[in-house]
Amino acid sequence: MNFTNVEQALKNNNMEVYTVASATDALDTLKTLLPTGASVSVGGSVTLAQCGVLELLKNGDYNYLDRYEAGLDADGIRNVMLRALTADVYISGANAVTENGEIFNVDGNANRVAPILFGPKSVILLVGKNKIVKDIEAAHIRIKTIAAPKNAKRLGCDTYCAKTGHCVAMEKEKPCIADGCNSDTRICADYVICARQRQKNRIKVILVDEELGF
Ligand code: SF4
Repeated sequence: MNFTNVEQALKNNNMEVYTVASATDALDTLKTLLPTGASVSVGGSVTLAQCGVLELLKNGDYNYLDRYEAGLDADGIRNVMLRALTADVYISGANAVTENGEIFNVDGNANRVAPILFGPKSVILLVGKNKIVKDIEAAHIRIKTIAAPKNAKRLGCDTYCAKTGHCVAMEKEKPCIADGCNSDTRICADYVICARQRQKNRIKVILVDEELGF
């Protein structure tokens, strides 16, 4: 894939960009962006697991705020997610990145989009080439036909998309961007687009020339 356009578009939107060939290279680049002793937390992401990020944080010289720590109950996990809002660094994947340099994420719980938007001094997003789309409309379709159904299935959510592979809203002639199911386990509650940022280079995007995550 030629990353030149999306790379420049993200830079134009005041985001720092690193383009790498593989998940291994992504991890090496990530290491250079993590100061020793930094408090670091993560959003739920298959991409991070595939790149070895969770192992790095567990075994590295960081103050890892680990939402996956054994023995945490619901209150404990919520506490880690609250502390993530003031971490030095927040690391996540993304649902889609457009060729216009926008990042589109949809959350069920908002614990991932909240620190991406505000709080941590540095936000690092690892993005496989399969996440790159033409524009917001294509990002919406990607989320409703790939990302959400696969994640809903992975997380065991009782949603229409987990059973059929696409959002119920896609069956309408002109679905509104926030349309969807009425499930209590719906994973599409908060739709967030990061466009041009005021704070230059707070968001860093590592573009990986491999398919990663959903
Ligand atoms: S709104 Fe519901 S059915 Fe639609 S993609 Fe989200 S979780 Fe799936």
